[in-house]
Amino acid sequence: MSSCIFCDIVNKKIPSDIILENDALVAFHDIRPKAPVHVLIVPKKHVASVNEFTKEDVPVIAALMFAVPVVAEAVGVKDGYKIAFNVGRKGGQLIDHVHMHLLAWPDSPEGKKEVAPV
Ligand code: 5GP
Ligand code: ZN
Repeated sequence: MSSCIFCDIVNKKIPSDIILENDALVAFHDIRPKAPVHVLIVPKKHVASVNEFTKEDVPVIAALMFAVPVVAEAVGVKDGYKIAFNVGRKGGQLIDHVHMHLLAWPDSPEGKKEVAPV
């Protein structure tokens, strides 16, 4: 693997605004937020995309999912948010290290009706 921005963030070579860190993952604010709240939840293991997950990664996948409500609570949006994975360029994925987007519009009285491209 050549250089990877998210491996560099995981390894603290690039600074980020970390919300949660545990053995499996880090969660930090997106540098160019596409919603009022936009967090990235990134496994420490470098896996290129959802397409590359294997059965060995089941604990990583579980850790990602269990982190979601913890992160949502931490940023004050547990009552409403969206999570999404972009997969491949045609799916909008620009960084080839799998990551979950957590997006929220806490001040929108009606909530978000449409999924914004992230
Ligand atoms: P993708 O399009 O690959 O699904 O999402 C990549 C996301 O990473 C984008 O929303 C982009 O704004 C974010 N991003 C790219 N570089 C950095 C960075 O250095 N720091 C942080 N915090 N976010 C980044
Ligand atoms: Zn990586």
